[in-house]
Amino acid sequence: MPTQKTSANERARSRFQTVIEQELIDRLKTLVLAARNIVVTCHVSPDGDALGSSCALAAVLRTLGKEARVVTADCAPRALQFLPGVRDIVASTRQPETAARLIEQADLIFCMDFNDLKRLDRLEPLVRASQARRVVIDHHLDPSIEADVLISHPEVSSTSALLYIVLWQAYWTRNLTRSSAACIYTGMMTDTGNFSYNSNDPDLYLIIHDLMLKGIDKDNLFKLVMNTSSESRIRIMGYGQYRMQLFKQHRAALIMLSQAELDEFDYGKGDTEGLVNVPLAMPDVTYSVFMREDGPDTVKVSMRSKGDFSVSRICEDCFSGGGHANAAGGEFKGSLAEAVTHLISVLPNYDQYLS
Ligand code: 5GP
Ligand code: MN
Repeated sequence: MPTQKTSANERARSRFQTVIEQELIDRLKTLVLAARNIVVTCHVSPDGDALGSSCALAAVLRTLGKEARVVTADCAPRALQFLPGVRDIVASTRQPETAARLIEQADLIFCMDFNDLKRLDRLEPLVRASQARRVVIDHHLDPSIEADVLISHPEVSSTSALLYIVLWQAYWTRNLTRSSAACIYTGMMTDTGNFSYNSNDPDLYLIIHDLMLKGIDKDNLFKLVMNTSSESRIRIMGYGQYRMQLFKQHRAALIMLSQAELDEFDYGKGDTEGLVNVPLAMPDVTYSVFMREDGPDTVKVSMRSKGDFSVSRICEDCFSGGGHANAAGGEFKGSLAEAVTHLISVLPNYDQYLS
């Protein structure tokens, strides 16, 4: 007779290619059932995947009778304000005392979509000081967060898809509503460019099937999240592309925007989302760099690449950052002009990895 555990494992194996160790799922369930106040948090400058996975998880936890709140370092971008649960998020930039109190009172903290506590920015010291038990659900390489339960699957294209598999193995997908299903779909969609990259995993389409049975309107979610723009965004995207620089010998493209240019276009958070991907449409461009002046001596750096060429290596080596092989980011301390000079000086070091 198979034990109950074996049959749970076999059931999992029969559905998705990604299988989470049943022991991790069991421990996660025990932690949740024992907890009262739960904080769900994600990385600073949260994107669709960070917000989608966090809001969906918090909603599921509430259906289980828990006090669950999403606490973030800063606010969600405009395009994601409509996402169910986003308006209830406690952002530390707006509500620092509430954010601190919730983290202090939490007996369980979920870390969604990041691999290093540094990515919590201003929340980092609060989470480090907390006595709460910790669960990580993430798809970035090399997780460095100490946790009671670490569910790390870099082969899964989004934390939201990974969360769905966690919920499924925990028998908690019945606790998903249409709203939380929409959150999960949004994360899956944004981390794959509407299923145009990192999207050859058949599990994704089983998950989408389930989410659609929950009643999500995927076409409308695409329109709201990925095909709705402010005037400023339309103009900045056009201007950025017009001013793009190419470094043909290094198969690289660079788009940069200074604070003065951002001001001129009335830049709002999220207005340049996706701009870094655009140059990759050129067959001769292997990687693309986007630099945005962010205050007097900080430049935010974003990189994207195709194929085996890793931009997380460049971001780690040269811009105190990291991320995924094909999508990474970091920061430069100095002026925009200095950041560009730095980039140009390091580009030749990576020619060896161009195949
Ligand atoms: P984006 O370019 O969209 O801001 O970020 C792409 C990916 O790069 C993110 O999912 C994240 O993994 C990573 N990333 C972005 N900025 C940073 C950063 O400053 N530090 C680290 N370690 N990773 C980053
Ligand atoms: Mn993600």
